[in-house]
Amino acid sequence: MKPVIVEGILADVDCVRPGQVLIERGVIQAVGPNLGRADHVFDEHCLIFAGMGDIHIHAREDVTQKETHKETFSTAAAAALHGGVVHVADMPNNPAAPIDDASYAAKETLLVRAHLPVTFTLYGGIGPGTRPLMRNVPYKAYMGPSVGELFFSTLEELDRTLAHYQGQAVSFHCEDPILLEKHKNAATHELRRPHECELSATRFALAMIEKHRLTGKLCHYSVGEGLPLIRAVKAKGLPVTAEVTPHHVFFDTAQITPANRPWMQMNPPLRSPNDRQAMLHALRDGTADYLATDHAPHTIAEKEKGVSGQPHLDTYGPFVTWLLVDQGFTPERIAAICSANPGEFVNPYQKEKFGRLLPGFVGSLTILDLKRPMSVRREGLKTKCGWSPFEGITFPGSVAAVFVRGERLNT
Ligand SMILES: [Zn+2]
Repeated sequence: MKPVIVEGILADVDCVRPGQVLIERGVIQAVGPNLGRADHVFDEHCLIFAGMGDIHIHAREDVTQKETHKETFSTAAAAALHGGVVHVADMPNNPAAPIDDASYAAKETLLVRAHLPVTFTLYGGIGPGTRPLMRNVPYKAYMGPSVGELFFSTLEELDRTLAHYQGQAVSFHCEDPILLEKHKNAATHELRRPHECELSATRFALAMIEKHRLTGKLCHYSVGEGLPLIRAVKAKGLPVTAEVTPHHVFFDTAQITPANRPWMQMNPPLRSPNDRQAMLHALRDGTADYLATDHAPHTIAEKEKGVSGQPHLDTYGPFVTWLLVDQGFTPERIAAICSANPGEFVNPYQKEKFGRLLPGFVGSLTILDLKRPMSVRREGLKTKCGWSPFEGITFPGSVAAVFVRGERLNT
């Protein structure tokens, strides 16, 4: 394939400036002014980011095929590209959870056979009695029951299991199983999974990260009261990062109505308006490190029955324009939470380097148009589950183009 030059406003973690990116054999060879005649030029309304990554999704596919009516690797990849996302990391709470070498390899074989343009990183699951895999993978530990069977019923059991995972990267779903049990008969989904569940689990996860020398990540963080705990351990130098989802910064409990309640159900649940503001602030000030969606597709019929989770891949890029245009995030900060930090998270497990507009990084780009609004409609979605919590909402901008290894793909 011949070299490709993409020209426009380049947005990376350290600066925003007009320039060109030269991509050859799928890799960025040079970045700068005057590299040659551009093949693709984007005007000043557009920002060119290193390909964005969503490091928390549920693509639902495994050898049992029990959940492929919700999503598959292929439909998740189509939704990702539609949303401007070039790489994803897929969670392990499948019916045949990838918790050992054989089950992980079986899931990976399905993925390889699908030949997708989107790069997947597969998490390994940590469940009662599991041990690290032979190969290097990121892990996910579910403390309490959420969706799927992969969870611990006591924290002592999780502690004993984590002792075997020293030095590994472990992501935590922070909801304390004992406290969830205590609140299980409360009136609403939000009250059944209150603040204290996440706070208590945060304290426990941070203690585990320190005790077992893990590289820790807190998933879909949602309670403002927990942020000082994260800031404190980061200040101490512990390797801890945190994700924040689009739903926890866009919706809050004040927006729940009897009509939208089933659609606004996820774990952890929507929190108060103050928590929502605190999460926005955390993404801005560096307490949180990733905009990660927890894309959790369920069919419309399943949602009507009260299953937890929202799909978000199709709308990733348009949602980011809401952060940029309406919430005043700088392009540099967006480059950090959507490109560079997700890249840093998956790069140890991939042959390519994601996340920066620098020579040697993969030639994949996400280009957002900040002046072309996008109204979310059910018909336009690529996710197999066929709905979005943002239907009827107009974002201020949209995905102008996605490049994967130098090739411009239709979005
Ligand atoms: Zn999840």
